[in-house]
Amino acid sequence: MPDLQLDEQQLALQRAAREFAQREMMPHAGNYDESMDYPWPIIEKAFAQGLMNVFVPQEYDGLGLSHLDVTLIVEQLAYGCSGMATAITANELALSPLTLAGSAEQIRKFTRMLLEKPSVAAYCVTEPDAGSDVAAITTTAKKDGDSYVLNGEKMWITNASVASWYFVLATLDRRLGTKAMVCFVLPSDLSGIAPGKKEKNMGQRCSDTRAVTFKDVQVPAAFRLGEEGDGFKIAMRAFDKSRPMVAALATGVAQCAFDHALRYAQERSAFGKPIFAHQAIAFMLAEVATEIEAARLLTWKAAQLLDQSKRATKEASMAKLFASAAAVKATEHAVQIYGGYGYNREYPVEKLYRDAKIFQIYEGTSQIQKLIISRHLVQ
Ligand SMILES: Cc1cc2nc3c(=O)[nH]c(=O)nc-3n(C[C@H](O)[C@H](O)[C@H](O)COP(=O)(O)OP(=O)(O)OC[C@H]3O[C@@H](n4cnc5c(N)ncnc54)[C@H](O)[C@@H]3O)c2cc1C
Repeated sequence: MPDLQLDEQQLALQRAAREFAQREMMPHAGNYDESMDYPWPIIEKAFAQGLMNVFVPQEYDGLGLSHLDVTLIVEQLAYGCSGMATAITANELALSPLTLAGSAEQIRKFTRMLLEKPSVAAYCVTEPDAGSDVAAITTTAKKDGDSYVLNGEKMWITNASVASWYFVLATLDRRLGTKAMVCFVLPSDLSGIAPGKKEKNMGQRCSDTRAVTFKDVQVPAAFRLGEEGDGFKIAMRAFDKSRPMVAALATGVAQCAFDHALRYAQERSAFGKPIFAHQAIAFMLAEVATEIEAARLLTWKAAQLLDQSKRATKEASMAKLFASAAAVKATEHAVQIYGGYGYNREYPVEKLYRDAKIFQIYEGTSQIQKLIISRHLVQ
């Protein structure tokens, strides 16, 4: 692990998260994958150990950790179980627009809900007919005196049925495109909000993914983040902060698959020698080890730029693009190295393979990351 730039405090943080992942998450990951139950007991423990909501600024009684610190924690949690880690990290995603654009009163109100007791939040942007093309959302916010009336449907929302509050992007007028977008933070128990059924996903199966419908929901104007027209900008800027976290999640899964595969390759023999002694296997592992190192360094670079208050849109996309591909390749190679055992649920790597794919889809697909990176190449 390249720890060159990590100080004592960061190494201690990384160690604490690693120990938590190995003690509290890994032993239960298989069962949660099978049952698809939401991992509340793990979340309660992560909360008690101070591994959640770490973006909450110190002036609001949070830890106010740096972006680099957060990636260190998140990588280790994903090593333990990326389904559980996604549920935990969704809070940091929802916190990103709140801390970027919220008033002191809004930040205090909604961070307190997360700090008082183990609870989670959700980031509601995607809709059934608008994923990559966020500008095509149709959830409408209609001004009504001192509040807004929200109508529409969100899709694929992580933590939808368990969140105590939502970040929601809507449009004031669909004809005006991104200029007419507005966003809110709002308690999830407002009248007219209904989460749908739990989706049966390929991987990260304990994470709670659902649609959410908003029917004539009265949202006080006090819950609007920023000004009318700022919504799209706020939602997109939050991704600059969250994509390095997704890259860190992917790196954790890749590292876990690599560690399993390296161990197995030395234990398993074929043709009279450990399979690691066959160059085809050793070279697979050499490539994966190199890509994990590169993924981690890209992630740290994006996080460090954010910590220096610099714009990191391109670097965040590069980290997510590269790390998610590295995770898919690392887990696919791990299944291959395990042979028939790799394809079986009694062994850990098939879950990792299923879990890894989502990193190339959520928080902007790999194609969208390439679109963002390519636009920055000609600026
Ligand atoms: C498990 C899970 C959890 C999620 N959690 C959340 C959440 O918490 N909050 C939230 O708001 N959303 C969430 N999402 C939604 C996720 O961000 C979207 O699924 C994703 O952005 C892709 O949108 P889409 O599914 O509509 O695909 P589409 O946008 O329809 O894309 C389909 C395909 O076309 C490609 N494509 C689209 N446009 C272009 C283009 N211009 N150039 C090249 N290729 C293109 C895409 O890359 C993709 O391969 C989640 C999704 C899943 C599956």
